[in-house]
Amino acid sequence: MFASAEERERRLAICQACPHRTEMAVTHAAICGRCGCVLAMKASLQRASCPINQW
Ligand code: SF4
Repeated sequence: MFASAEERERRLAICQACPHRTEMAVTHAAICGRCGCVLAMKASLQRASCPINQW
């Protein structure tokens, strides 16, 4: 169900450099501007995928 720690970090590094990465107004949690997911959660789920196929 969960991705490995290495895979999670690999994904988050890609998101960190992505122009679609944004933050929630109040909590400043990092979210994907394409799908609206919270990146820390999305990157942790093994079967999740980037909507523009970056990971
Ligand atoms: S999931 Fe994909 S589109 Fe969204 S912020 Fe990460 S790399 Fe960008």
